Amino acid sequence: MQPYTHEPFTNFTEEKNIKAFKDALAYVQTQLGKHYPVIIDGEAVTTKEKITSINPANKEEIIGSVSMADQELAEKAMQAALTAFESWKRWKPEHRANILFRAAAIMRRRKHEFSSYLVKEAGKPWKEADADTAEAIDFIEYYGRQMLKIKEGVPVNSRAGEFNQFHYIPLGVGVIISPFNFPLAIMAGTTIAAIVSGNTVLLKPANSTPVIAAKFVELMTEAGLPKGVLNFVPGSGAQIGDYLVDHPKTRFVSFTGSREVGCRINERAAKVNPGQIWIKRVIAEMGGKDTMVVDNNADLDLAASSIVYAAFGFSGQKCSAGSRAVIHQDVYDEVLEKAVALTKTLTLGNPEDPENYMGPVIDEKSFRKIMDYIEVGKKEGRLMTGGEGDDSNGYFIQPTIFADLDENSRLMQEEIFGPVVAFCKARDFDHMMKIANNTDYGLTGALISNNREHIERAREEFHVGNLYFNRVCTGAIVGYQPFGGFNMSGTDSKAGGPDYLLLHMQAKTTSETL
Ligand code: GLU
Repeated sequence: MQPYTHEPFTNFTEEKNIKAFKDALAYVQTQLGKHYPVIIDGEAVTTKEKITSINPANKEEIIGSVSMADQELAEKAMQAALTAFESWKRWKPEHRANILFRAAAIMRRRKHEFSSYLVKEAGKPWKEADADTAEAIDFIEYYGRQMLKIKEGVPVNSRAGEFNQFHYIPLGVGVIISPFNFPLAIMAGTTIAAIVSGNTVLLKPANSTPVIAAKFVELMTEAGLPKGVLNFVPGSGAQIGDYLVDHPKTRFVSFTGSREVGCRINERAAKVNPGQIWIKRVIAEMGGKDTMVVDNNADLDLAASSIVYAAFGFSGQKCSAGSRAVIHQDVYDEVLEKAVALTKTLTLGNPEDPENYMGPVIDEKSFRKIMDYIEVGKKEGRLMTGGEGDDSNGYFIQPTIFADLDENSRLMQEEIFGPVVAFCKARDFDHMMKIANNTDYGLTGALISNNREHIERAREEFHVGNLYFNRVCTGAIVGYQPFGGFNMSGTDSKAGGPDYLLLHMQAKTTSETL
């Protein structure tokens, strides 16, 4: 077994890679408009009610349609998952992992095809799409290897005449509710983590990106996953989301998405319903209000570019996005000026064209919400660049910088999930740390500084799950920077980290008298 290393990103300055990606986009174009069924116990079920998935860069273009599960089908899927659990939990961990390694190999061979679906369905620019697919491959490879380690158990002591063992067993049926913003990586990562550790799942993908999820489910079948282990149940949150979270046979819920929905799931999951004999586990990865902090002796070009790329990568639709820049008063004007100048060079347009740095936001609802925040920003701060949206063909919003925000303003406190960054001036390092920690969230953050003492202080004082120095606060790599946050950012479950699979398992101690 090769040791784990992360999947390299594609070099799009090379002509052959550009051609390969264009070919994949052309191929995916021929696949648009297909229908994808609900999958229960390996059987395809086509329903009357469907989700139509559209291209957010071109509303006229239909990516595909996906059957929606109602409560009756959700119940059927639950029964299938319960039955499959009885055999899947007995599969040897290494045999479960072998399916993953094959799945990763298939995805690697079809890498640009998967990325092209991400361009089309999620509006991801090439580089962002390529990173999403690479991360999906990473999750699969990494969790497969983690399972091989976990199966060894953890040594415990035994007294004379005694034989003690300690090892982890699966939990049961999990409900996986995945987000639109990493519709391949997070969807696949959360699903795979649950499955490889011996659980069976019901996957409810984001309603704006269900086709890429359907393609992944097809891939897992091709890789040899037995039927009933991964059941595909797209549907509405109100209809089947609540139903499955409340279900007495649901053993755990793995959710990535908004704070509002995450808190709702946590609350509902806490209630013990008739027929339920366990306390459900909730793994939640929610929002962020992440801060790029700039010290007075920092490299100011690095500071400006880090702020801009952390704020505007995938149009700011990452919970890791740097949506606030807190800058020392000595260098505030200079960093602001550099960031504005750089932002003005960013290109916005259809992500199929590799010349475009930014594509659309995901849908009409997001577009409206972000445009509303831009209006709030105009009142609370000073609009420096951007501020305009165009939803005539797709949901495009310019990269937008607001200056001179008060640390308690809405722009500095609320998650916008769009291409908007708020600049805030700080007096000194103490003030910078105070503003950075003045949030309900605690996901990512970065300090741009050449002051060793400040770097060491931030390491302790800056209260975020993922803290970076002298770089952007986005782009965690599986197995290198385990990812997850504090406070309202979630349950601090570190995706792509050494203890992530254990969240899907329970420990059993056996003690035999010899
Ligand atoms: N893991 C991603 C990153 O480090 C962010 C995931 C998310 O936005 O949900 O940028």
